[in-house]
Amino acid sequence: MCGIVGYIGKKNATEVVLNGLQRVEYRGYDSTGIAFIKNKSIQIYKKSGRLTQLLSVVQPDDNITNVAIGHTRWATHGIPNDSNAHPHSDNHNNIAVVHNGIIENYRNIKTMLLQKGYNFSSDTDSEVLAVFISSIYDEQINKDITEATRLALAKVQGTFGLLVISKIEPNKIVCARRGSPLILGIGEDDNEFIVASDQTAIVDYTKKVIFIEDDEMVVISNDGYYLKTLDNIAIKTKETSLIEFELGQLEKGGFEHFMLKEIFEQPETIMNATRGRMIQELGEIKLGGLSDFTDILTNMKRIIIVACGTSWHSALIGEYLIESLARLPVEVEYASEFRYRNAPLLDTDLVIAISQSGETADTLEAIREVKRQGVPVIGIVNVVGSTIARETNAGVYLHAGPEIGVASTKAFTSQVMVLLLLSIHLGLLHNKLSSNKAKKLIAEINKLPLQINKILSNKDKIKDIAIQLASSPNVLYLGRGLGYPIAMEGALKLKEISYLHSEGMPAAEMKHGPIALIDKNMPVIVVAMGEQDNKIWSNVEEIRTRGGRIILIDNEGNSAGRVNKEDIIIEVPRSVIEVSAILGVIPLQLLSYYVANHLGREIDNPRNLAKAVTVE
Ligand code: GLU
Repeated sequence: MCGIVGYIGKKNATEVVLNGLQRVEYRGYDSTGIAFIKNKSIQIYKKSGRLTQLLSVVQPDDNITNVAIGHTRWATHGIPNDSNAHPHSDNHNNIAVVHNGIIENYRNIKTMLLQKGYNFSSDTDSEVLAVFISSIYDEQINKDITEATRLALAKVQGTFGLLVISKIEPNKIVCARRGSPLILGIGEDDNEFIVASDQTAIVDYTKKVIFIEDDEMVVISNDGYYLKTLDNIAIKTKETSLIEFELGQLEKGGFEHFMLKEIFEQPETIMNATRGRMIQELGEIKLGGLSDFTDILTNMKRIIIVACGTSWHSALIGEYLIESLARLPVEVEYASEFRYRNAPLLDTDLVIAISQSGETADTLEAIREVKRQGVPVIGIVNVVGSTIARETNAGVYLHAGPEIGVASTKAFTSQVMVLLLLSIHLGLLHNKLSSNKAKKLIAEINKLPLQINKILSNKDKIKDIAIQLASSPNVLYLGRGLGYPIAMEGALKLKEISYLHSEGMPAAEMKHGPIALIDKNMPVIVVAMGEQDNKIWSNVEEIRTRGGRIILIDNEGNSAGRVNKEDIIIEVPRSVIEVSAILGVIPLQLLSYYVANHLGREIDNPRNLAKAVTVE
């Protein structure tokens, strides 16, 4: 969701920032903009729409400068138009500000500033912050943009990833963070800096980074950088880290879309999620990130998983897996609801937070609530060094590499894989799973890459089915047992990128209401996968009786003798049920992709969606 990029150094800052904005495009946005200092004045270019709109009005070669800041906006306050786009300036055009997040008390501050005679040219909360900083700056005798920013932020409620430049102090960028990610990239000679909300905007220039924490500021200039807290306490040292992925992982590699590339990466990402974590001969699982957590994992009595969206679906699969393999009670919560429900936790609880980006605001707030109650929380996260990875007590990385397509695919299957490894680990720790059974599961997991490849090689058939499906305005997805969360995830994938209305639900729930929707125009995707076979086939009959069209996802050979000639069937290789969730979702990812492609949708940047949802 939204992005910020700032650069100071010897390169052409306009070019670096525009390139950075292109790298963060995948996160979802509706407007873009850039500000830099040229001929001692602040120049701002901003446009609603895609980055290409901005590139048509600002040419890097005509705007050579050493300091620039840029923004991709995901509108929260004010419609996406040119004037609401960032950067925002103050009434004297002394400063320019880019902001990710929400200033919750902007109305009060705006009223106060209007009374003082300041004007506004946008509907945004961010412009209020810009004018507020400038109003403090106006009153200073010795102009100090860092201090003006700090004093303004002390009065602000809400979240910000913020960059500020001033034409009065032209050789610096003031950066601050609360609740929105901010990473400092340290370039050549330690006097070139790129600051961004996302590592992907940095990796073209340097791999050396510092993660800025909440309530911290960093000031970057040609002379170096310094850090302090928003309470004005200097931060003397801070650890540097290295970005772990390679530039090539940010390219499409011959595929038409990132989403398709990522679907096809799954044989490899599944291997990456398991590499070094399974000991086949002993039937053991080793999760390095949890090695200091063995006592807690052994003694806890209940697990609560908090997540949102696709991660919430993997959490539902995790619930089935942990309950069946480790016989521990598991609750799955929407992070946003859990956060505000004042849910009582027990000393013997363990919370698992799942987030691809590691920046999901709802999940992060839920984690903070869990920590407030003194309960341990572990993270299952893809992005190394992300806020959730840092704020949880321990965790397991997915190692799926950067996921650029907004609709999650490889991160989802890797989440499920990690949850399966965790379930086996817990089953062994709690003496609910024999090492023989663990060995069998590991053997099945090892077959997955080849099995996934087999499904992927069936893409042309799935594409044909997708073309038929694309003309239906509604699609229902049903499943039982592990098929139910897969059905939910399939439906989410379809609506995210094709904008067709789709709903997933437990197959048995259909007869409690949604069955009213079924007629000859309603395609129903049934995720059978051998789960509660007889029952699901009764549900299939109920649909057929009402004229509904069946598309069945099932294990090879499982439906023999039961399918009618009108039914469409997509078979996946057989596995044990615990492993087959991963196999069942892959045809649904391909199906959604090909429907959306047939409809000409913007698959990697679907409308209104953001990759990392950093607002509550
Ligand atoms: N709340 C700000 C706006 O609506 C910033 C949104 C963003 O993070 O992109 O302009």
